[in-house]
Amino acid sequence: MEKFILPENPYILLTPGPLTTTPTVKAAMLKDWCTWDDDYNRIVQQIRADLIRLASPSPGYTAVLMQGSGTFSVEACLTTAIPSSGKLLVLANGAYGRRISQIAQRQSIDHLTHDTGDLAPPDLKQLENTLASDPGITHVVMVHCETTTGMLNPIGAVGNIARQFNKIFIVDAMSSFGGIPIDMARMHIDYLISSANKCIQGVPGFGFVIARESVFSNTCGNARSLSLDLFDQWQTMEKGKGKWRYTSPTHVVRAFAKALEELDQEGGVVKRFERYSQNNRYLIAQMKEMGFTPLLEERFQSPIITAFLHPDHPGFEFKKFYHGLKSQGFVIYPGKVTDLETFRIGNIGDIHIKDMARLVNAIQSTRY
Ligand SMILES: *Cc1c(COP(=O)(O)O)cnc(C)c1O
Repeated sequence: MEKFILPENPYILLTPGPLTTTPTVKAAMLKDWCTWDDDYNRIVQQIRADLIRLASPSPGYTAVLMQGSGTFSVEACLTTAIPSSGKLLVLANGAYGRRISQIAQRQSIDHLTHDTGDLAPPDLKQLENTLASDPGITHVVMVHCETTTGMLNPIGAVGNIARQFNKIFIVDAMSSFGGIPIDMARMHIDYLISSANKCIQGVPGFGFVIARESVFSNTCGNARSLSLDLFDQWQTMEKGKGKWRYTSPTHVVRAFAKALEELDQEGGVVKRFERYSQNNRYLIAQMKEMGFTPLLEERFQSPIITAFLHPDHPGFEFKKFYHGLKSQGFVIYPGKVTDLETFRIGNIGDIHIKDMARLVNAIQSTRY
């Protein structure tokens, strides 16, 4: 066989996923694995155990993997967790929160949305009032890091309130899990959703849900979808010791196992959080120096991704700026906020302070 050399990346991804992965994670995909074989199923079981360990030091949780992008896992979780007699309260402040309402709509899940707009956190007083006045609500859902703006939402505070009112609490931690410390037990989270290609630093192809077992075990028959039935998927993985229903993304799973190993080698979630925070603080300080303004107030800013306002000189064109940076080896992200012109720079993935410093140089030498 010809010797295989991993090709160079033409650019690094400063996006919220897929993101820049290590050469060793990519190399893990070079073997073919049988989806039914014991060796492969053992890897799946190890991944499930690792995810549970990352989610809380307390016992009582289980993990299930689901094919597709992150949204598939959000939809699988909602359609399975909420029975036809249930009612969902959605706390939204960005595109991903609103997508949850859209899923509820499509799945005919009875729901109510509190939308505080893109720039404000959830209104905790309004939440308490609603839960007190509408006893029909059974589940509360929110996004942890709202990737639309980079806002870090207060899941601990909302978890406390959900707990007080005895509601099941679901968190879309897609862009934070593995990069920001979370303790599901302490934060009263019943279901946590994330995916392979965000802070664990794997490649895209599946998502996962970590669930409180005592709550999840009551959801048999709830799902309004066959392929997205998270309960059935869970039962198959439990009984088949790592077996998936239907074809699984074997190469992606292998890469994810490697990515989890590398997370441990880095020193776990706490160390990764420190690296991301350093990247983020450096980026914001340097961007401000160059005259850019972050969209959010500092106290709401996550260490994951930052939205910046377009500079107000009249000739600024995002397309030109984007291509100027791409030609120098950096891909950034367009904005997603409705009323304001923004762009976003992510700092998660195999990204280090030296990459941020190179980016700053590239921005300085780009005409925009
Ligand atoms: C990435 C992301 C998702 C899932 O997006 P997909 O494109 O389906 O992978 C959901 N919620 C948040 C907050 C995200 O950042």
